[in-house]
Formats: sequence, C-alpha cells, structure tokens
Amino acid sequence: MEVIKTIKEMKELASQTRGAGKIIAFVPTMGCFHEGHLSLMREGRRRGDLLIVSLFVNPTQFGPNEDFKNYPRDFEGDRKMAEEVGVDILFTPEAEEMYPPDHQTIVRVEKVTQNLCGRSRPTHFQGVTTVVLMLFEIVMPHVAIFGEKDYQQLVTIQQMAKNLHMSVEVAGMPTVRESDGLAMSSRNTYLLPEERKAVLSLYRSLQKAKELLQKGERKADRILQEVKGILQSEPLVRIDYVQICDAHTLQNVNQIEGDVVVALAAYLGKTRLIDNLVFRII
Ligand code: AMP
Repeated sequence: MEVIKTIKEMKELASQTRGAGKIIAFVPTMGCFHEGHLSLMREGRRRGDLLIVSLFVNPTQFGPNEDFKNYPRDFEGDRKMAEEVGVDILFTPEAEEMYPPDHQTIVRVEKVTQNLCGRSRPTHFQGVTTVVLMLFEIVMPHVAIFGEKDYQQLVTIQQMAKNLHMSVEVAGMPTVRESDGLAMSSRNTYLLPEERKAVLSLYRSLQKAKELLQKGERKADRILQEVKGILQSEPLVRIDYVQICDAHTLQNVNQIEGDVVVALAAYLGKTRLIDNLVFRII
C-alpha cells in the first residue's frame, strides 16, 4: 500500500490508471477505522482494479461547536488496517491544500439535506458534498462506496451525482454493528461505560420499529410513539430527532406506503450518535 499526500500525485496516478483502462474504486473516510469502514473497503477491493481510500477529517462538515478538534485520529492503526484489507492507495491530503486561502466554492444539495440531521446541523451536508466532489475530481473513481449508517449522506451524494450528471456510481453498503447491535462509529470511542450501556436503547428502539412494520403497522405516529418511549425510558439518552421518512425523498410520512427509513439522532452526554433502519416494502 502506498500513502499519497499531495493532490497532484493523486491526480496523476488516477489519470494513468484510467488511461490504462482500469477500474478505480474509492472509499472516502475520516479515519479511526472500524469494521464498518473495512466492509466498504472489502467491497471496493471486489469492485475495483485500484482501490483508493481517502483519510481526511474534513473541517467544513463540522459546525462551530462540534467535535472537529477532538475527532478521534489514529493514523498508524488506520494504515495497518487498510493495508491488511488490501487497499492500494491511502490518500491523506492536507486541509491547507484542500482549502487554500482563496477557497470560495460550495456544493449544496437542496431538498434531501433539509430534514433529519440537516435541522440540527445546517451546514453539515454542504461541507460533505463540497469535499466529496473535490475528492471525486482528484481520485476520478468509477465507483464510490458509502455506508447506509449515514443514510442521509448516502442519499445526498447520490442526488448530487445524479443532478450534476457525474459519471461515478455511488454505491451503498449495509450498516455494520457490534455484536450487541450498536452501529459502529468512530464516535463510539467517546462513550463512558454507563453511556455504552444506555446507547443500546437506540438499536432496541429501531428493532421495535421493525417488528411493528413487519406486523403490518402503517401509521408512522404509532411507531414513533413506541420508538420514543424506549429512548425516553433511558435517562442518559437525549433525543435529537426520531422520524419516519420516505427512503428516497427523505420527507416525513404519516401513512407508510413505499420504502421508508426510520432515522434517529440522540445525545449521550456530549456524544451525538445516529442510527437508522431502512424498511423496504417488497
Ligand atoms: P466516516 O469515517 O465516519 O466519515 O465514515 C466513512 C464511511 O464509512 C461513510 O460512508 C460511512 O457511512 C461509513 N460507515 C461508518 N460507519 C459505518 C458502519 N457502522 N457500517 C457501515 N458503514 C459505515
């Protein structure tokens, strides 16, 4: 595995690879790897001749009072894990090169970013789409792989790729969980032991939603009431939102008909975690 730090070097390698008729698979990340990241890399390994993973803690997707400074970083651990899983290139650009002083361009996807996390993190998704578009230009992937764990992010990037007539395929992969159900996240490292126990109510509440949907419940209100009840019975959990949305438009639904996502965000102390369940009506 090679570590590339400069945009120039990364672009040169990407265009040579494309010129040779090879498929580039790309997994963008912010590091502190866990099995969730590795599952995307394995899929990338399967799909591409050249597998590129970027590791960049993108400052513009964090709000002013969020955890950019404290975001967990473990370059050596990440380097080893990426190498073991068969990554060809680990691309680690510098913030100064990605955002030089005259940077003044943002990419904003409208409707699908307004609801859910967009309400409490109003500039988050424009930070994500701006950096992902930059990374796509630099890495020139044929396929880019994202996790369903960040479901709104996946839908937003798919919308961007579609609306800008981009050539890249944006693929989604299922959420990887700990054996007790907690969705893996780099931010789980923040949890104190009592919070780690209480956080299981997130998964439990989504399982309840799934059970109700499987039994045929189609009133969103009834499901939301149960989900919120489970979360509220846990004193260490503070709900940011729980919503049931159309899985494609991300608009709230009352009467469930097509595919839906039950999405939630909650605080445990200062740690904000998200999780979701995609329920497809076949
Ligand atoms: P991050 O480093 O948190 O920005 O995540 C990088 C990529 O890994 C994103 O596409 C995430 O959706 C994905 N990801 C993070 N956690 C998980 C998980 N538990 N399961 C599957 N994908 C994940």
